[in-house]
Amino acid sequence: MELITGEDVRKVYHNGGVPVEALKGVSFSIEKGAFASVVGPSGSGKTTLLNLIGCLDKPSAGKLLVAATDVAVLDRRDAALFRGTHIGFIFQSFNLIPILTAYENVEYPLIVVQNVPGSRRREQIEELLEAVGMSDQKGKRPDQLSGGQKQRVAIARALVTHPQLVLADEPTANLDHETAMGILRLMKRIRDERETTFVFSTHDHRIIGEAEVLYRIEDGVVKTHKDNGGPGHG
Ligand code: ADP
Ligand code: MG
Repeated sequence: MELITGEDVRKVYHNGGVPVEALKGVSFSIEKGAFASVVGPSGSGKTTLLNLIGCLDKPSAGKLLVAATDVAVLDRRDAALFRGTHIGFIFQSFNLIPILTAYENVEYPLIVVQNVPGSRRREQIEELLEAVGMSDQKGKRPDQLSGGQKQRVAIARALVTHPQLVLADEPTANLDHETAMGILRLMKRIRDERETTFVFSTHDHRIIGEAEVLYRIEDGVVKTHKDNGGPGHG
């Protein structure tokens, strides 16, 4: 079953001056449970595409369905609600809150986004910290953790609301190769266990091989599409 479909999706940025055509009509489909990657050089439109899928921005033209919802027509409030219930985000620079512990960073979306009562939060947080192998570091703040550990906490934070889709924009860009591979394997394991759909962008050739579905974009258009299957195929 398809979770995300884009048809001729376009994005033009207008910040005064010359308009920038970041996406020039991309079409794609990503199935539920996919481990999919958007690959391309810097400036090719990867972040733009993830931001549109994540309802952080709107397409200028074309059709974009995420979880059967036409995300192009959502207003700000509905977009925020949609993100809070369906989507988890992982960023290149981890984006953890510096003054909060690992535990509190994972707790944050449950309080702010989903308003989960205190009694129910603890179990969910502990479960996720365990899943990413960070239970024994949960009292530490981000500056006391390595890059790989920070990204593990960020993965737990992205998953704690049980989103069906996780979007990760160059999640391994600030990590060494060994740590990057570990993060990719962790994400894939979580996909296997929870059937969470993962879409990640990268321009690191060494981790591209981990993707089962691959869209290579260049200069705002899809150049190649590869589908190696995975759950839901065959
Ligand atoms: P990537 O993530 O692959 O590096 P981006 O999606 O960030 O690519 O950018 C694609 C193109 O759109 C680039 O030419 C970039 O300069 C431009 N761009 C991205 N965001 C904006 C913005 N907010 N305003 C104007 N141009 C932008
Ligand atoms: Mg980018």
